[in-house]
Amino acid sequence: MPRSQLQTYRSRRDFRRSPEPQGQGDRPKLSKDRNPLFVVQKHQASQLHYDLRIEVDGVLKSWAVPKGPSMNPKDKRLAVAVEDHPLEYADFEGTIEEDQYGGGTVIVWDAGPYRNIKTDDDGKSMDMAEALDSGTIEVWLEGRKLRGGFALIHSKLGGKQENWLLVKMKDDAADARRNPTSTQPRSVLSGKTIKQVTQETRSADG
Ligand code: MN
Repeated sequence: MPRSQLQTYRSRRDFRRSPEPQGQGDRPKLSKDRNPLFVVQKHQASQLHYDLRIEVDGVLKSWAVPKGPSMNPKDKRLAVAVEDHPLEYADFEGTIEEDQYGGGTVIVWDAGPYRNIKTDDDGKSMDMAEALDSGTIEVWLEGRKLRGGFALIHSKLGGKQENWLLVKMKDDAADARRNPTSTQPRSVLSGKTIKQVTQETRSADG
């Protein structure tokens, strides 16, 4: 199985300067029960992107999705695998200084419990670690904006090991006309936009 570890996450950050959590293994505040959770964080860094994170074996497996998730099963969205993040990161909203790793503002764009729905060729359910190793995970999301099945497929597009594709599965929640990244831009935690969080941090510092 893929090794779940936070060394890379920690080595890239200076926690004297970054407001991000170090990862003490606490449950995020937004997980009300013990169900595994997913979160999508909207991150205005040098390039705007959406970070999809899925709880697996005590960490958040993470992908940066430049265009964000789509509700249209015809869209294949590039999802670049990035380092595992600590569970507490699911609650993180704030502004990282420009000169730090990931500099920019993060909001919790969507979050909720998820279920692993991946089965093997014989219809037997696969655990998440197995599914990740197989190169395809399928999850049922119960967020406020994202609902239904989503697949992540290890495409290695352009010969790049970190490249996956995020695709909405065909089910009742699929809807080519819904475009939540543009119509529902606010945080599901604070109700704030990226711009508001950035401005508040600036005025608090100034
Ligand atoms: Mn990011």
